[in-house]
Amino acid sequence: MKLLDRITACLLKIRASRGRPAKTSDPTPLPAAVIEDRGMTIHAGWLIDGSGGHARRNVRLEIWNGYIQSVEDGVVPASGPHASRPKPDLDLSKCTVIPGLIDSHVHLAMTGDVDDALRTRLREAPFEVVRRMIRENLREHLRHGVVAVRDGGGCRGSTLRFANSHQERGQPVRVLAAGRAWHRSGRYGRLIGRPPASGLALAEAIRQDGEPADHIKIVNSGLNSLTEYGSQTSPQFDLDEMSAAVQAAAERGLPVMVHANGEAPVRIAVMSGCRSVEHGFFMGRENLARMADRGVTWVPTAVTMQAYAGNYRQNGKNPDVSRRTLDHQLEQLAMARRLGVNVALGTDSGSPGVHHGAAVVEELRLLVQAGFTLEEAIRCASHNGAKLVGATFGLLEKGNPATFVAVNGEPSTLSRELKHVRCVFIDGVKQLEAG
Ligand SMILES: [Zn+2]
Repeated sequence: MKLLDRITACLLKIRASRGRPAKTSDPTPLPAAVIEDRGMTIHAGWLIDGSGGHARRNVRLEIWNGYIQSVEDGVVPASGPHASRPKPDLDLSKCTVIPGLIDSHVHLAMTGDVDDALRTRLREAPFEVVRRMIRENLREHLRHGVVAVRDGGGCRGSTLRFANSHQERGQPVRVLAAGRAWHRSGRYGRLIGRPPASGLALAEAIRQDGEPADHIKIVNSGLNSLTEYGSQTSPQFDLDEMSAAVQAAAERGLPVMVHANGEAPVRIAVMSGCRSVEHGFFMGRENLARMADRGVTWVPTAVTMQAYAGNYRQNGKNPDVSRRTLDHQLEQLAMARRLGVNVALGTDSGSPGVHHGAAVVEELRLLVQAGFTLEEAIRCASHNGAKLVGATFGLLEKGNPATFVAVNGEPSTLSRELKHVRCVFIDGVKQLEAG
């Protein structure tokens, strides 16, 4: 128990140091009236629906049994003298309503803290400690409007164990987990996975693995260099190995996400038929064009380089390489936007300095900095991510789940206000409300 208490104290300290209240609150119960008839009306001052289209003004949403029944534009606010409709059950006329967000690349079983000793202790901690941290990380996601996360793996598969555990069913944020990633023996990936057993091909290892995962994660390059700008690593697996692995995953009904930086590793990932390329630093224009052609999603995790630049500056190291790498990634993002690549927002939270939940807001800002409109950036964080995991909640339109986030103020203040959302609904049920 001593270790548990110490780590909990550390986690609370981290949150306090980020200027957030240490006290956590449980999901707020739905008002009784809404529970009784399972329906409600909402007036949204502004609606960003997740399609990438412009924000809409004064929108009325009707919700029934957790689904959006209708969406009506240009409704006069109910509080005015010429109100065209009865008062809504939920007046969000001074808020911007957006779809529930998805962070398409996280490591829930890791902390975003930069303290190496704490990171190691947590990596080696008993499952009970990790479980507590995962719950805490998910609360942070929910506080920032994130309703689903796609996990990129951990060395002991704790997130998958958490996601598959019956006792976690009541936890509102949807967790899609890979378990342990796959990497080639002797290459990068030990911290988030395992190599196939000696003598076993990657595809055979995937076929024989019985873990009930949501997707397969394969590591096909090294880490992006923080000391040598633009340096690239060789692929871990060749095209034949990777294609066979994607086929083996498909036989299990699972898509493949591939960690890949540099031209050759990304080319192999894309040509193999994977669902998504993660990171993709220095992948180059040809790969982006290939991804657009083949409908492969890119999860750029640009915020990691911003975090590394910040950490290096603080520790008296030279942040130049991380900062230039970030600039290059933003240029690749601008190119991806022009080419029509499906970009899904992912943060790699759990990496040093990349904090669960808060990093989503930073990554959104970086997408806008790269030239995406705010509405397009929201689409990357909602509809595109939801499509990636086969969910429908990312688009606020008739027939879809009433999974949304309300943020105080107009769209122009969104990135600031997302740090403390007004409320979060999942399938029509209120899960969080600012106190
Ligand atoms: Zn990752």
